[in-house]
Amino acid sequence: MSKLLITKKINARPFVYRYRELYCDDVRLVGLAGEYGTPLYVYSAGQIRERFQMFQQAFAGEPHTICYSVKANSSLAILRLLSRMGAGFDIVSGGELERVRKASKAALKRVVFSGVGKQEWEIDAALQAGILIFNVESEAELHLLAARAEALKVRARFALRVNPDVFAETHPYISTGLREHKFGIDIKAARRIYRSASRYQWLDAAGVSVHIGSQIRDVAPFAAALERVAALIGELRSDGLDIRYVDAGGGLGIEYKDGVFDAAGEVARYAGALRGAARLMKTHMLLEPGRFIVAQAGGLLTRVLYVKQNGAKTFVVTDAGMNDLIRPSLYQAHHEVLPVQQARSGASSKLVDVVGPVCESGDFFARDRSFTSVKSGDLVLLLDAGAYGMSLSSNYNTRTRPAEVLVEGDEHQLIRRRERLSDLFATERLPRSSKK
Ligand SMILES: *Cc1c(COP(=O)(O)O)cnc(C)c1O
Repeated sequence: MSKLLITKKINARPFVYRYRELYCDDVRLVGLAGEYGTPLYVYSAGQIRERFQMFQQAFAGEPHTICYSVKANSSLAILRLLSRMGAGFDIVSGGELERVRKASKAALKRVVFSGVGKQEWEIDAALQAGILIFNVESEAELHLLAARAEALKVRARFALRVNPDVFAETHPYISTGLREHKFGIDIKAARRIYRSASRYQWLDAAGVSVHIGSQIRDVAPFAAALERVAALIGELRSDGLDIRYVDAGGGLGIEYKDGVFDAAGEVARYAGALRGAARLMKTHMLLEPGRFIVAQAGGLLTRVLYVKQNGAKTFVVTDAGMNDLIRPSLYQAHHEVLPVQQARSGASSKLVDVVGPVCESGDFFARDRSFTSVKSGDLVLLLDAGAYGMSLSSNYNTRTRPAEVLVEGDEHQLIRRRERLSDLFATERLPRSSKK
């Protein structure tokens, strides 16, 4: 008897067709484009919550705090939504600290501060805000932290961010866990540095942290990194240190290519991979997911300006460009592109490149994609743009950055207005003329 394989199809995204028209949850994208214009970032609040809950459920058996990585999408409305669910935050700058403060003062005590280049004012602000822990990335930073903690008379909890020398398969720009990378401290030097820190009265060696990279689809490297951390924690405890926290970083990847992605299953596998080492260490776990929480909740809605033929190639030129969503240009990232209004079945399709208006050949979103009768004025949606989309946007080519809308069921709210040209000029000054 042949075994019947039942594959559970799981729609990983909140964007679905109804009557040949694309919706975000229960809101028509055509309506949003009409109301707010394009390019427009559209996020589903429901999906962000769902992903956060998946993390909470997967780690329910361990003492833990989920510190959402602010740089993935730092919009205040999204930070507030997550803070209401009890999220902590992983920040990498004093600016992100201020974002957390604006979103939720109560969440400041659940902040972890990462980053290789913390400045004195940023350290001071974080100490005064009473954050949970500093992830220290060099000896020099540790000395500065000790000095500032003493000056402000605030005890500073810290973890060394160790570099476990674990290879994780991902794009080279977002891999961070090898010794050749700028991040963290060589795990072999960590024990010595922890020992040297014990002479500082205002420092509290409270944890160990690790973050091996981003968009990692295989859970084995996470487990390998945490096993090395567990071994280090054993040594540190035998040195008499009271290590209470282990920060496993972020980095859990998503599927950008098709709509079938068992997110709950993925996070369960991830939690399973971390659990062994975590139980051994008997610590409070800190997790720093970014992309996994917000990427698939967001899309970038854009309008087709022109369809042009250059030799054998067809280019679909959109009103969004690499300044709005740089992932394809920066990481050769793949984003699915969907027409907002579906063509009738039977219509002929052809291969097109979807490109932006920015003056760079690297300004493209998709290459050789099959599209059915796309024409100027049509709306298309770039999928999985909720993470490292708006947060990496710029004003290159003196283009104003998009507006952002948060969808809640059949309702929606503008959470960031579109930039105006006057916003762009506000900080500039023309030099005084030297000639009279
Ligand atoms: C970027 C970053 C994260 C989040 O990574 P994701 O891949 O978005 O989950 C977490 N921790 C640190 C230290 C980071 O730099």
